[in-house]
Amino acid sequence: MKESEEIISFYLKFEDKEEIPNFQPGQFLTIKLDIPGQDKPIVRTYSLSDYSEKCEYYRLSIKGEPAPNGLDVMPGIASNFMHARIQEGSVILAKPPNGKFVLDMQKSIPTVLISNGVGITPMISMVKACTLVNPTHPIWFVHGARDGNFHAFRDEVTELAGQNPNLNVHFRYSRSTPEDTGKYQSVGYVDAALIQELVRQEAEYFLCGSPSFMQSIIQGLKESGVPDSRVFFESFGKPMKSVS
Ligand SMILES: Cc1cc2nc3c(=O)[nH]c(=O)nc-3n(C[C@H](O)[C@H](O)[C@H](O)COP(=O)(O)OP(=O)(O)OC[C@H]3O[C@@H](n4cnc5c(N)ncnc54)[C@H](O)[C@@H]3O)c2cc1C
Repeated sequence: MKESEEIISFYLKFEDKEEIPNFQPGQFLTIKLDIPGQDKPIVRTYSLSDYSEKCEYYRLSIKGEPAPNGLDVMPGIASNFMHARIQEGSVILAKPPNGKFVLDMQKSIPTVLISNGVGITPMISMVKACTLVNPTHPIWFVHGARDGNFHAFRDEVTELAGQNPNLNVHFRYSRSTPEDTGKYQSVGYVDAALIQELVRQEAEYFLCGSPSFMQSIIQGLKESGVPDSRVFFESFGKPMKSVS
């Protein structure tokens, strides 16, 4: 299913059994693809982007990675193969859910989920799990996108906020269009100043997005006195340098 200009969701079930083990919100699946023209299987990890009490499928939401601007190289191998070739009935090899970037829903300290672009995927699973399992828990969902066309899951999160009075949603668009009117809260880039303005209390912060976005928010939170032990992040690309 198309979620935005760049992101398509895939719903996975087992080929040979009914029951689908649940996972912790924030975890990912590792998949292995045999792609024509590649001399060995391509292995990639994708966050699980949905959550329900009884797991009925694993949803992966994948951005088709373009070639970087100005570089004459191939666009992303696995993501574009998924977009172009994987359809209903396709079979994919996958390992069980894994990962340590998880939300402990029993903690009493408020939760702040901060993402941009496709970094929204683990946040969707976290915000849904929290709304189902611990709906009195205060939670902020802050997401940055270019505009409504590049914003996946806007309706899903807006609907959730309608059900959960303890969920505070803030969408910030960097290049909003007239069609977006009324569907986002502010213009610009999500930064530490916005987070501080919205969350005026002690909290735990979960981040996922582009490397520069995460670096700047981690730095900003640190400068405003948030201890490292309260900040968790998932990097989709190469490992991030630590912020000292
Ligand atoms: C824990 C985790 C969770 C993740 N969750 C998600 C998710 O939910 N959704 C999602 O979409 N992604 C997610 N990712 C990212 C995903 O695993 C892949 O890295 C992503 O899809 C790109 O893979 P690819 O094979 O399409 O691109 P690759 O083929 O690996 O290429 C990546 C980029 O490098 C460029 N490139 C190719 N050759 C060169 C070259 N010679 N020089 C410079 N650049 C080059 C490509 O054009 C492309 O832009 C996650 C990653 C991790 C680690």
